Amino acid sequence: MSYQYDLFVIGAGSGGVRASRVAASKGYKVAVAEGGALGGTCVNIGCVPKKLFVYGSEFGHGFDEAAGYGWSHQGVEFNWSVLRDNKTKEIQRLNGIYGNLLGNAGVEVIAGFASFADAHTVMVDGKTYTAERILIAVGAKPFIPEFKGSDLVVSSNEMFFLEELPQKALVVGGGYIAVEFAGILNGLGVETSLAYRGDQLLRGFDQDVRDFASEEYKKSGIDVRLNTDVEYIELADAATPKGARTVHFKDGHVEEFGLILYATGRVPNVASLALDKAGVKTGANGAVIIDKNFTTSTKSVFALGDVTDRIQLTPVAIKEAMALIAYWFEGKEVTFDYDNIPTAVFSQPAIGTVGLSEQEAETRGIDFRVYQTDFRPMKHTLSGSTSRSMMKLLVNNADDKVIGAHMVGDYAGEIIQGLGIAIKAGATKADFDDTVGVHPTSAEEFVTFSAASLKKK
Ligand code: NDP
Repeated sequence: MSYQYDLFVIGAGSGGVRASRVAASKGYKVAVAEGGALGGTCVNIGCVPKKLFVYGSEFGHGFDEAAGYGWSHQGVEFNWSVLRDNKTKEIQRLNGIYGNLLGNAGVEVIAGFASFADAHTVMVDGKTYTAERILIAVGAKPFIPEFKGSDLVVSSNEMFFLEELPQKALVVGGGYIAVEFAGILNGLGVETSLAYRGDQLLRGFDQDVRDFASEEYKKSGIDVRLNTDVEYIELADAATPKGARTVHFKDGHVEEFGLILYATGRVPNVASLALDKAGVKTGANGAVIIDKNFTTSTKSVFALGDVTDRIQLTPVAIKEAMALIAYWFEGKEVTFDYDNIPTAVFSQPAIGTVGLSEQEAETRGIDFRVYQTDFRPMKHTLSGSTSRSMMKLLVNNADDKVIGAHMVGDYAGEIIQGLGIAIKAGATKADFDDTVGVHPTSAEEFVTFSAASLKKK
């Protein structure tokens, strides 16, 4: 049986672009279908524009903190449309780069949303394409629970294109996106409340990190409301659909907000794929089920990245694409290691984490010790800010290996990357101690932990 393509990729996001251009560079005839902008969520409505907004919003605190260093800043103003539109121009530049990368690799880009006709055939805008292998890399989309007034809220998708910033906003959720956007809005001068249904934000992170970060968010000006859930929402004035919304909370409290962001998780983007026509099975939330070689229930169809709902992170999707390429071209069984993946939450302050949390180490029955510290960063000795940083190291008592590193504070994302290498390489506490610190930095705390910092358990 001959097919038009060796590989047809559905979705030109982080994983799809990497898989298609590497496969093409190795001699495959490849097409990729994309209905939106090239680069997918991360480039267009995720990591990249989010980080630009974080940079923009950090100036909000920076001007205040500069006074202690001798700067005066009368008449400082923020113009939302400048930040939004400069961000959009930069994203368009990146879209162009992605187009060039694919074009130069010889990948045919097909504009449109693809759906399956059978295990080797997809349709895009009524046209049929056949391929020996089909890769599903369509990512995920925001999930908003259905309730009265849920049509009056926005998801993170819309946050990147708001016509104007509200004076007062409510963010609902307690995960990455909720705390990141709460920080962005707060830094940009919006009166920001963050409502989370549970006891503490950032479920799944180390408990000390969660508690510490939550207190720091409050200090930075975010009104953090725990154990808080929304009952329903209505327009404050029925005649002004773009106006304020009235939120009725489950505890009976009623309050108006100019904008309500629901950051309540993301679900695989499979609705329009007609997966059943190819016999591709899905699990919880519509996640495409794959084996360890990224093969779905249909031998000719593969999937990776957020659509498989494992770890929803861009670098994971890219690494999965490279592992799949090695499987296809070198016949290597995939041994993708999902342990010790470093990650950062770009809240303000930021969180960096790699390896096990204290709770995970306990659940696994590991005999371990914890070094922990928190301190006022040197920058804030003059800035007047009361913001503090915290760091935490978990060490396995059996072999002295560092099994977890966590930080809340400036540059946590940058700092945790290096620690990720050390932990991946199996570094021991003695290796950390042998490493000379970079002075004066916050990061040096990680190599100067002494018995005095041992946490009592
Ligand atoms: P998360 O799964 O991280 O968080 C979802 C939050 O919404 C949780 O706090 C959850 O509460 C809450 N929630 C879920 N359903 C409801 C509901 N019906 N009512 C009220 N609250 C609800 O999802 P995000 O959307 O924040 O992010 C999705 C993923 O994207 C992340 O897990 C991460 O992998 C990735 N991401 C990574 C970033 C980075 O690397 N910096 C940045 C942004 C996203 P509960 O905990 O109680 O279930």
